[in-house]
Amino acid sequence: MELVYIIATLIAGLLVGGLLNEMIYRLPSGEIPFPRRCRECGKAYSLSDYLSVVAGISGRNRCDKCGALRKRREAIIELANAFLWLLSFLTFRNSTIGHLFISFAAISTYICIGFIEYDGKKLPGWIYLFLLALGILDIFCNGELEIKERIIGALLGGGFFALSYAVCYILLKKEGLGWSDVKLMAVSGFLMGWQASCMTIIFGTLVAAVILAVVSMRKGNRNKEYPFSAFISIGAIVSMMYGEAMLRAYIRLFSIF
Ligand SMILES: [Zn+2]
Repeated sequence: MELVYIIATLIAGLLVGGLLNEMIYRLPSGEIPFPRRCRECGKAYSLSDYLSVVAGISGRNRCDKCGALRKRREAIIELANAFLWLLSFLTFRNSTIGHLFISFAAISTYICIGFIEYDGKKLPGWIYLFLLALGILDIFCNGELEIKERIIGALLGGGFFALSYAVCYILLKKEGLGWSDVKLMAVSGFLMGWQASCMTIIFGTLVAAVILAVVSMRKGNRNKEYPFSAFISIGAIVSMMYGEAMLRAYIRLFSIF
């Protein structure tokens, strides 16, 4: 029976991944993300070509009107969404169905935020409210996390980034982090609680440090601005699923000494 759920999760994950590609591309300009269209000429793809993965495998990854090639990234986003939904299913299968669906929605939202930020485009304001709404719904679906822990998570996550923003602004006279990062951490803290919020900060900062070190060594460009919300999104996805386990392992490690 579980195999049926796994296959259903993967298929649904792929289909939503297809929608995510359009959302990443079109939400910043306020367009409706359906149907899927060619990036060059705007022709709508047929439903059989909806998924970039399927179009790629079947050799139909060019637009029939203008011949433009579909980006490989689109297939990767579809596969990543399906894979992360599967991990989420395996992590939360014993939780409530509501919490499982909220985790699916949150993962896809973070992928969307991560890529819009990576592309250097503006995130729509409602996306933070959507994550907040998921957090409010989760109060009724996830009894393991108390409201108190969520509020501490929001204050801790948002507060930490607001403080970093202020320190950067006062010491360096420039905006190191944006208010969008502060908002994202605050709503993520409410959604996941303070434990996962801590892990998001640690993990997101670690990923950022590694990627930025590699990029700056390669290009020698230290003044370019980087999309921190993209790193927060990676940290949030990992922490949402494994944050508590990671924090417990971390505490255990220190209690040995
Ligand atoms: Zn085209």
